[in-house]
Amino acid sequence: MALECWRGRLAVSQVGRRTVQALLPVLAEWLRRRHGRLTYRMTQLLTGHGCFGAFLHRIGREEVPGCHHCNLDTVDTAEHTLQECPAWADERAALNICIGNDLSLPVLVHHMTNGEEAWRGVLTFCEAVISQKEAAEREREASPDAPIARRRRHGQRRRLYDLHLPLPNRPRPSDTGVSGGV
Ligand SMILES: [Zn+2]
Repeated sequence: MALECWRGRLAVSQVGRRTVQALLPVLAEWLRRRHGRLTYRMTQLLTGHGCFGAFLHRIGREEVPGCHHCNLDTVDTAEHTLQECPAWADERAALNICIGNDLSLPVLVHHMTNGEEAWRGVLTFCEAVISQKEAAEREREASPDAPIARRRRHGQRRRLYDLHLPLPNRPRPSDTGVSGGV
């Protein structure tokens, strides 16, 4: 697909300004790169549409937008997960070794675009952290105290997320992100 077409598509997409502003400066390189494939969990981190309190609260799946892993008074966003939440300090330290201390999204995307090692670092962070957040969310949903609206309906969560994922490399659920290709 032509670059201009992607630019137009991103501009009107639902992924949000944060993601669009990080991708636009490197969009040509991002689309041309020969390494890495986005996984479902990486896409969650890049778009903020996924297993984060703020997003789940917005779509009516959580009572509050707070972080269940450190402090319910702190809004749980992709940025909080990536840059601040003390629960993920070990995973973040490993990512810092790959990418440096600036984990803002534009810097992250720049490094991912330009190097396979950075891509793998982000992949490792996302798989480790988001899988734990998903497990904790499943536990909350399984609790007898969970409000009806939050209880799990099979397969619905992934479809909800998928509606918000118009990124160049739309992931398939089976993707591992390390098999090469684009
Ligand atoms: Zn937290």
